[in-house]
Amino acid sequence: MEILDIVKENQPITSEHIADRINLTRATLRPDLTILTMMGILEARPKVGYYYSGKSLISVMGSFIKNISVMDVKSIPVVVSEDTTVYDAIVTMFLEDTGNIYVQNKGYLSGVVSRKDFIKITLGNHDIKTLPVAMIMTRMPNIVYCEPGESIFDAAVKIIDHQVDSLPVVEKVNDNDGSEKLKVIGKISKTTITKMMVKIGND
Ligand code: ADP
Repeated sequence: MEILDIVKENQPITSEHIADRINLTRATLRPDLTILTMMGILEARPKVGYYYSGKSLISVMGSFIKNISVMDVKSIPVVVSEDTTVYDAIVTMFLEDTGNIYVQNKGYLSGVVSRKDFIKITLGNHDIKTLPVAMIMTRMPNIVYCEPGESIFDAAVKIIDHQVDSLPVVEKVNDNDGSEKLKVIGKISKTTITKMMVKIGND
């Protein structure tokens, strides 16, 4: 930030002059200048010096998250079949330590069940040891999902807009009968996105 302020006020300015102003050697400053140039925040013109490109740090961060694919950060989804009982699905939820379970019919995505769906059903007078999960799940076509070509930013927007905890990452395939089906290949959740933030911070 200090380098940016100096460049904004004195551009074009050489690395030597920037270094003088913050009492560092040119060599010490070089990695910072390289990063700022690589990020497109500063422009370097040989024999002239550094200019401010006009791009803010926040806009650079914006394009950064829009360039991270859901495929780079997706986690492993927990999947059950439609005939799984609500009881077994709840046990799976605890064993797998997850909040959302995806439901499949003949290998294709047909529904999503969450903690709230389970709580709701246990409030009623149901036999959860025989009731199939298909009876309580949110089903297609109401499932919000993302595809491999989308960015983590697109996924985060859908999670916020639809107020859900996770999105299945799906591949669209054509079934034998010609209809379009969704194959679950991953999961993006609030945890996945938080882990990504921590990794970027640590890196
Ligand atoms: P929780 O139950 O822990 O609040 P969610 O906010 O994800 O978890 O779920 C709230 C509701 O949204 C549930 O009824 C669930 O079935 C549904 N749901 C969860 N994920 C999706 C999704 N990707 N698309 C559509 N509905 C979803």
